[in-house]
This record gives sequence, structure tokens and C-alpha cells, in this order.
Amino acid sequence: MARINEHYRKLRAGYLFPEIGRRVAAFQAAHPDADLIRLGIGDVTLPLSPTLVDALQRAAAELGTPEGFRGYGPARGGYDFLVDAIRTHDYEARGVAIERQEIFVSDGSKQDSGNIQEIFGQECAIAVTDPVYPVYVDTNVMAGRTGPADESGRYTGIVYLAATEENDFSPGPPDTSVDLAYLCSPNNPTGSVASREHLEAWVAWARERDTVLIFDAAYDAFIRDPALPHSIYEIEGARECAIEMRSFSKRAGFTGVRCAYTVVPRELTGAAADGSRIPLNDLWARRHSTKFNSVPYTVQRAAEAVFSPEGKKETGEQVAYYMTNAARLREGLAASGFRIFGGEHAPYIWMRTPRSISSWDFFDRLLDRGHVVCTPGAGFGAAGEGYVRFSAFNTREKVEEAVERVRGAFESGGAAG
Ligand SMILES: *Cc1c(COP(=O)(O)O)cnc(C)c1O
Repeated sequence: MARINEHYRKLRAGYLFPEIGRRVAAFQAAHPDADLIRLGIGDVTLPLSPTLVDALQRAAAELGTPEGFRGYGPARGGYDFLVDAIRTHDYEARGVAIERQEIFVSDGSKQDSGNIQEIFGQECAIAVTDPVYPVYVDTNVMAGRTGPADESGRYTGIVYLAATEENDFSPGPPDTSVDLAYLCSPNNPTGSVASREHLEAWVAWARERDTVLIFDAAYDAFIRDPALPHSIYEIEGARECAIEMRSFSKRAGFTGVRCAYTVVPRELTGAAADGSRIPLNDLWARRHSTKFNSVPYTVQRAAEAVFSPEGKKETGEQVAYYMTNAARLREGLAASGFRIFGGEHAPYIWMRTPRSISSWDFFDRLLDRGHVVCTPGAGFGAAGEGYVRFSAFNTREKVEEAVERVRGAFESGGAAG
């Protein structure tokens, strides 16, 4: 008898995006002619930039020659050309030294942020912010580190740190000790960004408590203020307490191409049962090489091209385009009297629903009356109730039109029902 992993049964039914998909499909079936504007799922919309396409094509042609053919990639995932480009452009440029063997290239930060928990003990206590990118929580549920979920969706055994207006949607470390804490800045879903002082407080706390920080910087390219840290390693002492993840998905339109990386510094250790300290880099190297066979050569060449002068210019323009969308959403919705957060260093706007409408009611009304798809904040955690997320990933025209429709749906008596 093949018994299943019972922990999967604790997972809350109706994961957020399938539920949104279901409601949108039902709406479309009832209103086949409605012109929907989708500001829901966080997927990029602009096509891959020419320099990246060129790199992909050239690499593909190389693979068709006897000299250029490549089979399996390196054990840590990344070819030196990409690993060195990452070290130079993502780290040295910001005064941070990262060694080659500290960088693990993968096919996504979703996978990395979900898989990283495998190298930690079953009994590790976890802290997450609330609202949260669901992957951090669900993968720990699957691994059996939690009890069941309560009505609001919170699992027993996880420490939830509420992101609120009072803390600028960037909660500080808890009073209790935990073993692992997941941080995401710039943040999905709230669009907030961690200041240097904020990250310093987290690093100091983590070092004092012997906690490992898992820092997801998937949106670092969206930071506009040059004084804000892009990497946790810009904070002194972070090499002893933090793992960092970055992705090419949002910065370069790689959501379908797939390339990301994780940094595990050599100084970072975890405690073994016999009291010795074990380098986490060794464990992650073992996990990565046992369960993963690297990213296609073509994709790594395209990722390398993101750091070329033309690649930087083109992807920088794409990010700027999305950030102008974010500004239009921010300004347009704020001008209509909505309470708006985020969107200054992240492609997400976090909006308080008017008149205390619940997240899902707002979602339904906006879909029904405005034909705009947003994401209900409650789907990201209990503290997201009363908020919705708008994504800046769309065309300028649709974003501007969406602002008008939100205004129309909720200002002109639209919220009466
Ligand atoms: C989009 C996103 C990622 C990137 O995931 P990939 O698997 O690299 O596409 C990681 N973390 C967060 C919070 C995200 O929103």
C-alpha cells in the first residue's frame, strides 16, 4: 500500500491562483464579450529583449556543432561565464565579494525557495511575514514542519510576522527565537522594500539567535533608490547568517525561459546533532547535484547576456516601463481616494479595500463591474485581509484603463451592493 505524505492534506484547498482562475473563467463564460484587464498573477508581459533572443539563438547554433556541443552542465549548475557575470555585476558592483563556489544556478527561485528547507532539520521553527509568498509556507507544510491550518489559513507551528501599515509592511524580527526566517525584499505581495537599517536589525538578530535568514531578492532590479541595498550581503555579518536568492524571471522576462541562482556563503553553518557546525554550502551542493542537472546552456548564455551593455540597457528599459506602470497605478488610484502602498521599488501595488470590503468581495466586485482582475490580499495570508494587490505587469494603456475602471466600479455607487 502506497501511503501518501499526509502533510499534503494539511495544505489549504483552493490555492490562490487556481481559485482566481476559476472565478475568472466562470465570469468569462457568463460574459464572453467582456474585455478583461488582468493585473492579477505576477507574470511579465513584455517580450524577451533582442539581445537575449540573439544570445539564445547563437547558443543553440553552437550546440549543433562538434566543438560547441555541451551535455550536462556543472554540478553547481552554473557555467563559469554566468557565475562570473553574476559575481561582477550583481555583487562586486555593489561592493560585495562572492566566490564562484558560493553561487548555485538553477531553473527558478520558486524551486530554490521551496527546496532550501530540505537541508534543515524537521524540528526547525520557521518565521514568515504575513502576507507572504505562499511557496515558503507550503513547502514547509509538505515537509511536515507545521500542524494544520486554522480558519484564517495560518498553520500551527509557524511564526507569522504581520506586515501592517504601522510597520510599513516590513515587520522586524520577532521576540521569540526561530531557526529559519524567510524575508522577501522588494516584497511580493505588498510592494514594500527593506531599508538598510531594517536589514541590519534582522542580521543582528539572526546572528544573536543563531537563525538562518532566507532572503528572496527576486525583485531587486525594481529598486529605484540607489541607497537601498539590493543584496543582504551589503549588510555586515550577513555572510554568517543568510542565504540569498535571485531570479532572472522578473528582471529580464525569464518567467518562461527559467534561470535563477542561490548564494550560500562558505561561513554559513548549521548545527549537527553531535554539536558540530556543518557548512550549509556543502549540504546545498549535495542537494543540488543529487536532484538537479543544471540549466540549459542556451538559457545560461541568455542570462549572461542580461549583463552585457545592451542587455542591461534593454532589460533596464523593460523594468522602467513596468515601474512607470506602477507609478500610474499608484498615482491614479491615490488620486481617486484609495489607500495605496508599495509600487515605488517593486512592480506591485498594495491597496486597502474601501469601506472595509473583504479582499475576495473586492475582487469579485471589481471583476463583475470593472472587468479588472486583481489578487485578493487574503490569499497571501490572514494579515492580507482587507487589501488587494495590483501588478504593474501589463501595457501602459491597460494599466491606465484599469485605474479608470477601479474608480468607476467603486466610486459611483458601485460598492453599494
Ligand atoms: C516571481 C517570484 C520569484 C521568482 O520565481 P522563479 O521561479 O525564478 O520564476 C521568486 N520569489 C518571489 C517572491 C516571486 O514573486
